[in-house]
Amino acid sequence: MKKRAGYDVTILERNRSTDDLVLPIGTETCNIVSENHSGAEYPYDPQSARDCLDGRLQNERFFPSFIYGGKVTSRVLASRSMIEAGHDIAMQCRSNMEVLRKHYAQRIAENFLNYTFGNPDSAFRESAPPAGVRDVEAAFLTPQRGFNTLYVGLVLQHELRRLGIEFIQGADVQSVQPRSERFEIEYVKDGGRQALVADQVSICAAAYGFALAKRLNPRLELPDIHLALRCIIYCDLPDGCDKNFTCLKLEDKYGAMLSPLGPNTALVYHPPAAHISWKRLSESGEFPTEYRRAIAAEHPEVAERAQQTLHEARKYYPELARASIVSRHVSVAINTTSDSRQRRNMGVFKIVDGCNMMILPKWTMAVADAKKDLVLALEHSVRRGTLHEDDVCELLLELLRVRVEVPGAWLTTQAPYLTSAKALARLMRVPEDIAWGLAKHGSEAAHRWVTDCQAGVEA
Ligand SMILES: Cc1cc2nc3c(=O)[nH]c(=O)nc-3n(C[C@H](O)[C@H](O)[C@H](O)COP(=O)(O)OP(=O)(O)OC[C@H]3O[C@@H](n4cnc5c(N)ncnc54)[C@H](O)[C@@H]3O)c2cc1C
Repeated sequence: MKKRAGYDVTILERNRSTDDLVLPIGTETCNIVSENHSGAEYPYDPQSARDCLDGRLQNERFFPSFIYGGKVTSRVLASRSMIEAGHDIAMQCRSNMEVLRKHYAQRIAENFLNYTFGNPDSAFRESAPPAGVRDVEAAFLTPQRGFNTLYVGLVLQHELRRLGIEFIQGADVQSVQPRSERFEIEYVKDGGRQALVADQVSICAAAYGFALAKRLNPRLELPDIHLALRCIIYCDLPDGCDKNFTCLKLEDKYGAMLSPLGPNTALVYHPPAAHISWKRLSESGEFPTEYRRAIAAEHPEVAERAQQTLHEARKYYPELARASIVSRHVSVAINTTSDSRQRRNMGVFKIVDGCNMMILPKWTMAVADAKKDLVLALEHSVRRGTLHEDDVCELLLELLRVRVEVPGAWLTTQAPYLTSAKALARLMRVPEDIAWGLAKHGSEAAHRWVTDCQAGVEA
């Protein structure tokens, strides 16, 4: 968006690609993201629910439907055993549906362009529990939709190249320091120290960003930040899967998420097995050393937790009966509370004039936050006299309509698309199998998955 606003943009990324075909995009926490949230997952926290719905509205306008890779609306499921244990999760979900419906109706009243998911009553409703999931009391449909994270990486990479954005890979940023109304960014590349001077900086480095921000402005006040080390797995599905939607079964020990990404692969998550530990961010904002180690050399509990995840998820999803683990991932979640059911939106932090930090506790907020970051950048340009105030509104109106395009060739020709999709999958360390794409001449099995599933899915 900044490039389209007229800025010369350079991205510094620590990871590097071993294949010229692809850039190292989505290689850290983004490689396990599966849900474009609508807030349905947060029945305990109305504000998180509203924030996610706002993020979802923005994403729908920005990303092409290609990123869903054939998936339709997710099912949020209330478990019967949780109700029997004394917690009426179905009622809790019903009241959250009301929060979401009202918020969506309000957004439409403010701006009719927000009528993205149709009528509020039909966009948020209860439905029959999906066949083939055990222990379900009630099912809820909202605009929440599972997506294929590899496809997001692919469209973003295409956009970066199309716009000619400079991308320096293997550049580990050490510091951002003010230099006579500009900034010097020092980074290590190929063992040597290098520097880049920029008018403005956005720090988008997930939990690694806090320390860079604190070094630039030690007086910066951050909310109480909690980091959580989590484990999530990709599985194969040897018996196939007749669901082309995510089942998100609430909550904790009574549920698990099954997110199929095609006929042969699914992402599986079970919160109690996933949550290895949590830590409060220190005053200096440094990324915890033990988390660094846990990611570099897999944490000793991960293998067992991955098995436990599969074991627990099998209780609900019969298609996992013969599944095996294809890959396991350790990631750091960022929250403002120790309770993962309350993951409030953090927005964009202004570190000093001209330098912002974007922290995404949820990927869903990416487009909404990128727009806030852009507004701050434009305001800074006006203050510096490089942009006239009158031009800001016009520029913003134009940029708010920006949508990422999918190259037509990806939808019709298989071989070149698949080669780079598989190269990016290897770089992201996700199963290559999820790169099947939607090409006309794509895998027969994949197309059967979409068409057969869609035939069985209510409109
Ligand atoms: C188990 C789990 C499941 C999740 N599921 C979902 C979900 O379904 N839906 C959802 O909306 N959210 C989900 N999230 C949250 C989601 O993962 C994050 O919101 C999102 O990935 C953050 O994206 P990011 O680009 O900020 O961070 P990242 O994807 O981690 O990108 C940060 C980048 O910065 C680079 N970097 C870091 N430090 C430096 C440095 N010093 N120099 C240069 N480069 C640097 C890294 O290499 C990386 O490429 C989940 C989180 C976890 C842990």
